Amino acid sequence: SVPLAFLGGIGAASRQGVLIKGSNYLEALSQTETFVFDKTGTLTEGVFTVKEICPRGMSEQKLLELAAYGEVHSNHPIAQSLREAYGKTIDTARVSHTREYSGFGVESIVDGQVVFAGNAKYMNKQGFYYQPVSDIGTAVHIAVDGEYAGYILISDIIRPGVKKMVRWLDRHQIESVMLTGDNDRVAEDVARKIGIHSVFANLMPEDKVEQLEDFMESRIEEEKLAFVGDGINDAPVLARADIGIAMGGLGADAALEAADIILMEDEPIKIVNAIRISKGTIRAVK
Ligand code: ADP
Ligand code: MG
Repeated sequence: SVPLAFLGGIGAASRQGVLIKGSNYLEALSQTETFVFDKTGTLTEGVFTVKEICPRGMSEQKLLELAAYGEVHSNHPIAQSLREAYGKTIDTARVSHTREYSGFGVESIVDGQVVFAGNAKYMNKQGFYYQPVSDIGTAVHIAVDGEYAGYILISDIIRPGVKKMVRWLDRHQIESVMLTGDNDRVAEDVARKIGIHSVFANLMPEDKVEQLEDFMESRIEEEKLAFVGDGINDAPVLARADIGIAMGGLGADAALEAADIILMEDEPIKIVNAIRISKGTIRAVK
């Protein structure tokens, strides 16, 4: 049977917007020595703004339109942000055959033309020459009917409270690690602003699982490892960690299912409250 203190702890956490799916996770939380965070949508808002549009042989507006149309069927934060930046109603009848390559980008037929939109790795994979980007940011390169068409540089903002959370974890000898599929420069910029020293960038979704498994193999007995993600391209990592913590607000169903703990309001700082509650509960039980 579950001691009443555990139920009290789970109740206290839920009143703070942290849903803990069982007393075992409350206990594990009190023993967690490493928090591994996904970047986009977790440490950052996942709401990108356009910094620069660099078209090749077309107008900026046309390039943005192709990107928004090509991405219309994707639920990736980048896709949503491009649609938002485009601002006009998208006629989905003009788009078909969309395929999403997680960690790379999308391929769609727009107005009968083949449109690729994604990162530099994706352009390499498809055999397109692409223009190098000098500014810090996440570049979405676009190719249309076999021709490179330019890029859109976008950037995201850090969620409130994240820096404070990392400082709190540091003070309590709990390690923070960041994993991302984004490029090194963006990754390092975000990590520096937040105060995370351990950063792994350019990871494909399967690399994230592998990285997490490496951490889990090298740990000392009893120590627990938590992964915090938004469920976009990282549901397998959420499932694999001792504790999978998901952002609840975005409502990616697979993530909420795979997660052991859900942050209802997408506020990473609430992790601090949950750890405090877990440690208090364990003290009361023992
Ligand atoms: P993160 O690890 O930052 O959460 P993801 O693993 O979801 O990011 O994606 C990694 C990278 O793959 C993104 O930074 C982006 O360059 C590219 N990417 C993934 N999905 C898309 C998409 N729908 N459109 C454009 N680029 C994408
Ligand atoms: Mg992600």
